[in-house]
Amino acid sequence: MIASEAIVVGAGPAGAACAFELKQRSIRTLVLDRSPFPRHKVCAGWITPRVLDLLALAPERYPHAMTRFDRLLFHLWGRTFAVRTRQYAIRRYEFDNWMIARARVPVRTHKVKTIIREKGRYIIDDTYSCRYLIGAGGTHCPVQKTFFNPTRPRCENALVAAVEAEYPWDCRDRRCHIWFFQDTLPGYAWYLPKAGGYLNIGIGGKLARLRQQGRTIMDHWRRFIETLYLQGLIRSMPPAPRGHTYYLRQPVPRPRIGNAFVIGDAAGLSTLDMGEGIFAAITSGIAAAGAISGHTPLSFDRMPRFSLPAMMFPPWK
Ligand SMILES: Cc1cc2nc3c(=O)[nH]c(=O)nc-3n(C[C@H](O)[C@H](O)[C@H](O)COP(=O)(O)OP(=O)(O)OC[C@H]3O[C@@H](n4cnc5c(N)ncnc54)[C@H](O)[C@@H]3O)c2cc1C
Repeated sequence: MIASEAIVVGAGPAGAACAFELKQRSIRTLVLDRSPFPRHKVCAGWITPRVLDLLALAPERYPHAMTRFDRLLFHLWGRTFAVRTRQYAIRRYEFDNWMIARARVPVRTHKVKTIIREKGRYIIDDTYSCRYLIGAGGTHCPVQKTFFNPTRPRCENALVAAVEAEYPWDCRDRRCHIWFFQDTLPGYAWYLPKAGGYLNIGIGGKLARLRQQGRTIMDHWRRFIETLYLQGLIRSMPPAPRGHTYYLRQPVPRPRIGNAFVIGDAAGLSTLDMGEGIFAAITSGIAAAGAISGHTPLSFDRMPRFSLPAMMFPPWK
C-alpha cells in the first residue's frame, strides 16, 4: 500500500493548483491521473487575466506560446460588435503539463476505479491510501461519484455538451470571433487563433435544450463549419472534433464530506454565461488546500458566477 497524507485524483488545473498549494503547506501529496502527461484536453484554452493573477504569472514568463487579445468580435442576431478587452489563450496540452510540473509533487499514471473509507483513511484500488482525498477528476470524477453523487447529484439542466478541434493552421484572420445563439445553438461558438500557428474552433450548448430541439451538438457543428467556410475563416475541412460534457455553476452546498473534497469540474463550477472553467478549477483547488491546512470549512459561494462583466468591463477600461 502506498500511503500519502493527501491524494489528488486528477492532474488538470484544479488538481495541479491544489497539489501546488498543499506542497507549499508541507502536506505530503500524491497526484493520480489516468493519462500520462502531457495529454490532450478538450478545451478552447481561453484564459482570463484573473487566471494569471491567481498563478502570479506574467505572460512573458510563461514558457509556451500565449496569445493576447485586446479585442473580441461578438456576433449576435446577425450583428457584430467589437469589444475592447484583455484576454489570453494557451494550449491545454502545454498549460496543464506546465501546471502539474510546477506543483513539484509525485504524479502517477493510474485510473482510479474503486474508493472505500476504512478506519479514517481512503483506500484507492487496494493500492493507495490517504487521509485527505481531493476529487479533481473532472466531470466523471470517481471521488464525486463515490462520495458526493449519491446525496448531492449535479443538476442535469446545467450540463453542457461541447466539441472542439485544435490544429495547426495558418489563420488569415488573427481576431477572436464568438457567435452567440447562432442557428438556434443554445450556447456559443468560437474561432480562436493561437500563437504558435494553431487554430481552435468549437461550439458548446446546454444538453437539455439540444434534446428539446431534437438536434445534436454535431448537427450544430456541421452548420458552424459551413458558416466558417462561407465567411472565409477556414478554407478546408477541419479535423474531426473531440467532445466532452461539463456542468455550469450550481450551488455546491457541501464540497467537503469528511476528508473528501470535490473541486473544479468535479464540483461543476464553470461560469453560467461563458462556461469558463479554468479559473474556477484553480480557485477551488487553492481553496481546498487552504481548508485542509487551516482546518477550515470550504465554500465556493463567493466565486464569480459570470465571465462577461469582467470581459466587457475590465478594471483598466
Ligand atoms: C469544448 C470545451 C471548451 C472549453 N473551453 C474553455 C475555455 O476556453 N476556458 C475555460 O476557462 N474553460 C473552458 N472549458 C472548461 C474547462 O475545460 C474545464 O472547466 C476545466 O478543464 C476543469 O478543470 P479540472 O481540473 O476540474 O478538470 P479536467 O481539466 O477535466 O482534469 C481532470 C483530470 O482528471 C483525470 N481523470 C479523470 N478521471 C480519472 C480517473 N478515474 N482516475 C484518474 N484520473 C482521472 C483526467 O485525465 C484529467 O487529467 C471548456 C470545456 C470544453 C468541454
